[in-house]
Amino acid sequence: MITTDSSTAPSRRPRLAAGARRYRSSEIRDLLAVIEQPGVLSLAGGLPAAAAIPTARIQVAAQRALAAPGRYGSLALQYGPTVGVEALRARLAAGSAAYPASTPGTALVVTTGSQQGLDLIARVLVDPGDPVVVEDPVYLGARQVFHAHGARLIGVPTDSEGMDTERLADLLAGGLRPRLVYCVPNFSNPSGSSLSPPRRRRLAALAEHYGFVIVEDDPYRPLGFGPAPPDPISTHAPDHTVFLGSASKCIAPGLRVGWIASPPWLFDTLVTAKQSIDLHTPPLTQLIVAEILADDAFLGSHLEHVRTDNAARASDLHGAVADFIRCDAPTGGMFLWGRAATETQAMLPRAVARGVAYVPGAAFAVTAGTHAHHLRLSFATLDGPDLLAAADRLRGAVCGPTGCERE
Ligand code: PMP
Repeated sequence: MITTDSSTAPSRRPRLAAGARRYRSSEIRDLLAVIEQPGVLSLAGGLPAAAAIPTARIQVAAQRALAAPGRYGSLALQYGPTVGVEALRARLAAGSAAYPASTPGTALVVTTGSQQGLDLIARVLVDPGDPVVVEDPVYLGARQVFHAHGARLIGVPTDSEGMDTERLADLLAGGLRPRLVYCVPNFSNPSGSSLSPPRRRRLAALAEHYGFVIVEDDPYRPLGFGPAPPDPISTHAPDHTVFLGSASKCIAPGLRVGWIASPPWLFDTLVTAKQSIDLHTPPLTQLIVAEILADDAFLGSHLEHVRTDNAARASDLHGAVADFIRCDAPTGGMFLWGRAATETQAMLPRAVARGVAYVPGAAFAVTAGTHAHHLRLSFATLDGPDLLAAADRLRGAVCGPTGCERE
């Protein structure tokens, strides 16, 4: 019989690997667990609205995918190639209403969400202690990945034209030699800003001159309210850019389909790294995405609907908070990034008590102590009346009894 002696158990506990001790839980996931309570209207998570997920079309595509024959039975249910199923790779290479054709000369590997793409890139390009430049404020999932691989993060501020590439140029001229420069070029998470065409070209030229890799993480490209976003950075520096796309924001996040368009010199290494992680992304969800991306008429009208709906929600939220939160009107994506007169971390319990949640700006800070007055509000999830009610509750938390103080 095995007996357990609780007084000695801890000393027998196996220890974690050094790398495992670098993992940090995602602030947002931790925060959501606390604030997403019944009665709380959440502006915190970046979830597409239920109406933005084309469930009926996905169901039809799933049925067809399950019927697709392969050499050893249903293509959708067998082991598949690590690079991804051919139907999806061919569609991504050719382009769709959501994404332009992949940059000529790059090679495609399908990933289990673009989050896996970030992890693969960090695995094969970052050693512990390596400098990695990121936008400040930064997407938390990217920061989590880079930390897990031991990167030393250097934040470069963003403004209404995206990452300040002149600031980056100064750092490079001063001797900084990053392995990667990470940016979200369209409707960034959390800042909502997009990298302007001159800055795209400048960043590409810097990458070629100094020999670093640009990680162009572009899940929000399909969600612009206005004219099509500028050409991807990868078109300016194809040999120095790794492009990440995702079906999460334009079809459904739960399918977990993303992709990397990589320069040829990096491709085999990425594929080998993916082999050891999950062999391949599920063919069923890849086939669903391939079919929907190929259905131009459906995808065009679906995206039109989502963009119009998001634009209306963004304008409602902006209109409802602009007198007490300093912010630009969003032009796409899912987020409104703004600045309040008060520290937003300290204000959060007050807001939750009033029944509204958001993510405090400090959570996205690369440089400690920054963005303390900022907050990220998602306009993409709640529908009209709830969105306005959430804005009203927020007003109650930000504004004192004597009225609103605006920065
Ligand atoms: N990059 C950015 C900028 C994101 O906002 C997200 C999702 N929040 C991801 C990557 C991950 O997306 P996916 O669902 O494709 O893994």
